[in-house]
Amino acid sequence: MSASVRVTRCVGIASLSGIARSDDPAQLGARIARGDRAALARGLSLIERGDAAGRELASVAWTTPGVGYIVGITGAPGAGKSTLTDRLVREFRRSGDPVAVLAVDPSSPFSGGAILGDSVRMSDHFLDPGVFIRSMASRGALGGLALAVPEAVRLLDAAGFAWIVVETVGVGQVEVDIASAADTTVVVMNPGWGDAVQANKAGLLEVADILVVNKADRPGAADTEADLLGMLSLRSTDSASWRPPVLATSATEGTGIDSLVEAIARHRAWQQLEGHLLTRRRRRIASELQRLISHEVAAAVEAHLRSVGIDRVVDRIETRELSLSSAAAELRPQFQSGPE
Ligand code: GDP
Repeated sequence: MSASVRVTRCVGIASLSGIARSDDPAQLGARIARGDRAALARGLSLIERGDAAGRELASVAWTTPGVGYIVGITGAPGAGKSTLTDRLVREFRRSGDPVAVLAVDPSSPFSGGAILGDSVRMSDHFLDPGVFIRSMASRGALGGLALAVPEAVRLLDAAGFAWIVVETVGVGQVEVDIASAADTTVVVMNPGWGDAVQANKAGLLEVADILVVNKADRPGAADTEADLLGMLSLRSTDSASWRPPVLATSATEGTGIDSLVEAIARHRAWQQLEGHLLTRRRRRIASELQRLISHEVAAAVEAHLRSVGIDRVVDRIETRELSLSSAAAELRPQFQSGPE
């Protein structure tokens, strides 16, 4: 690598060492921290696959904290999230900060980050070495995705991205959880009463730090803004709480984007000043820890029941030889003696 290569440890350099594809987590982690994009892409694939190497890599990344600020963007399909994200990326890039986008698509059958959407999205930014865009599709079960996304974010953080935008479709609990596991969560809606009501029902208003009525070039945006403000006013908040602003944007026309960037900066500054960012990040660690342990325990239970032959136990329950709870009691001690 020439001496003129940037020294920032973050992005933009597909190092020559990328040719030697080692999946050793320590080596891969070191390459990622040096700004090796090939290593980062490989690492994200390992995490997406959910195998042991991915898990280990996420642990390595944990020891290399970066300065990344996580912005979650969520909303119904077609609300304009990716168009808006594209605008945001451009705004963030004005200051020269490197930006990563993780587009989480639980419904997509594709994986490996090489789905068509990426190349379409990338077309605008592919000449910019400070932008990294990656899609993440369902990893088997949705629960797997809920584990993989924070690990992927950690990897992007270790890679030195200043902004990490996580985009998800806000239609289910898992997706809402993923979106709300950000430092600032932006909920995107469109003009129309139905949209605001749906977002409310989906629990999106609860997790929103900023509400955006996108497609404000269409009729009804002002009404939707007023509806949202009305819904927010019903929430009981004390005077010290953050009050989510309601903004109007047109991602296609590029209007309102500066206000959105400004609102994100304001929310960030408010959290830092009040110590909320640390609290929020601690809460995130706690819920991730809980999720990880639940996942591992569930997997261990499943493996154990498979090994003892659950059908045999069901037979005994069916013939009333055992009750459900006595069967559970019979099985449980073996499980407690140490799942592998
Ligand atoms: P996503 O599914 O939420 O990511 O939505 P997309 O960003 O893919 O946008 C869905 C459609 O809405 C596309 O055809 C966009 O061009 C269009 N769109 C996005 N933002 C706006 C906007 O502000 N105004 C209008 N009129 N259309 C928009």
